[in-house]
Amino acid sequence: MIFDTFTIKSRVRPVPDFPKPGVMFRDITPLYQSPKAMRMVADSLIQRYVEAPITHIGALDARGFLLGAVLAYELNKPLILFRKAGKLPADTLSESYATEYGEAEIQIHADSLEGGERVLLLDDLIATGGTLLAAARLVHRMNAEVVEAAAIIDLPDLGGSQKLQDAGIPVFSLCAFG
Ligand code: AMP
Repeated sequence: MIFDTFTIKSRVRPVPDFPKPGVMFRDITPLYQSPKAMRMVADSLIQRYVEAPITHIGALDARGFLLGAVLAYELNKPLILFRKAGKLPADTLSESYATEYGEAEIQIHADSLEGGERVLLLDDLIATGGTLLAAARLVHRMNAEVVEAAAIIDLPDLGGSQKLQDAGIPVFSLCAFG
């Protein structure tokens, strides 16, 4: 299937003032409802990473899980979950961070990685970059490496992708909204 940004972007619904005034929420549920757009997203990411030297897929709660599962299945890699605080039942490591909406915290099971792994981080969208940076800190605390942080959408005006790159983390996104 030929990748075309229009098919992806036209399936992202802008919702002003959600979840709080001043935020333009980019809703990707219409994209997930379109088999064509979803296949385009999944195929593009599979193609990009099929030969990449990654050992693990790290998916971000919650919309990143949907993509993460597809990639982990297709690339035959272990899937590790970065969850919002309080959801993981066993021993965890935590990182706090700031978002467009306020303070947040993500956790990973302490036995998700042993050290030396090469992780691809996946989320639906990069805004301030706080979430992916916190996930990268967790990976680093476990003595593993982040190969790249990937998302369907980048919001470059919010500076997150730049922040990730400044921290030495390569970034890939399928489209951007300015
Ligand atoms: P950030 O940590 O600021 O890069 O925010 C990224 C995370 O928050 C992702 O998991 C997104 O799903 C969500 N998010 C942040 N801002 C938006 C937005 N404007 N529209 C949709 N999702 C967003």
